[in-house]
Amino acid sequence: AKRDGRNAYRFFTSEMQAQSARALQLENGLRRALERRQLSLHYQPQFALDDDGQSRVVGAEALLRWQHPELGWVSPAEFIPIAESSGLILPIGEWVLREALSQLRRWDAAGLPALTMAVNLSAVQFRHDDLPELVGRVLEAVGMPAERLELELTEGAAMDDPTMAITVMNELHARGVGLSIDDFGTGHSSLSYLKRFRVGKLKIDQSFVRDLTDDAEDRAIVDAVIRMAGALGLQTLAEGVETEGQLAFLRRQGCHAVQGYLFSRPLPAEAFAEFVVARASA
Ligand code: C2E
Ligand code: CA
Ligand code: CA
Ligand code: CA
Repeated sequence: AKRDGRNAYRFFTSEMQAQSARALQLENGLRRALERRQLSLHYQPQFALDDDGQSRVVGAEALLRWQHPELGWVSPAEFIPIAESSGLILPIGEWVLREALSQLRRWDAAGLPALTMAVNLSAVQFRHDDLPELVGRVLEAVGMPAERLELELTEGAAMDDPTMAITVMNELHARGVGLSIDDFGTGHSSLSYLKRFRVGKLKIDQSFVRDLTDDAEDRAIVDAVIRMAGALGLQTLAEGVETEGQLAFLRRQGCHAVQGYLFSRPLPAEAFAEFVVARASA
């Protein structure tokens, strides 16, 4: 819109103008955010639900945070789409991968149990030719075995171009990297593709978890996803678990793992390590 000249703007309402001005400000800010060290990662613990009714931390999901000098904290839900449309998601995504795996090394060195690191992948990164090699390169540079990394791809991104998705998943799988389908249930996967996707885990979207205790339909959906995953040999992780009632239902249905505010919000690296240590000695 920058080059359209003054007249193009006369059709904009002031609200649209404010929105596009913010989008431009974010895009320009994002260009410098990496070098200015405004990006950081928070980590949310992921828990395995054991048969004895216990739960233990088995992994962390890395979640991007951006502190803008004037706007304060900007939500990834707002800036990731801008990073995608501008192509900035490629350098940012590479930084996320490197930083998350380096953090995992630091936790290993500090004596934390060997956790899995889950890293979100954008569809733009996934479509990029270089992805499997890039992932291999970063793992090697950091000195982390591929098995410790789990890449999260949204169901929508996988179904965008399922044939391409299968090729990339096969390459990542061959390298030993774990894959999970994020936001499962929101992206219309066809079951025939699900069988061919090289994934080990389905992450049940939080929109189905939210009303589990009052909504019989959501219970039926979650139950069906867990059964289907079981039949296909896939693990399940429910996201957005906030209450004991939700947890009890998920446990009863045989869901393998959970994450959510009931256990912990995403935390800075230091606080995450303290959380894991405190829980291990509790
Ligand atoms: P997502 O991958 O589905 O991540 C889960 C989101 O739910 C996170 O929001 C997390 O903070 C939030 N959450 C976790 N537990 C609960 C809960 O119990 N209740 C509720 N209401 N929310 C919970 P966040 O951190 O704002 O991230 C939003 C989205 O931004 C992510 O959704 C993901 O799609 C994207 N994102 C974040 N970091 C990255 C990244 O490094 N790369 C890419 N490509 N996308 C990212
Ligand atoms: Ca995710
Ligand atoms: Ca998700
Ligand atoms: Ca999501």
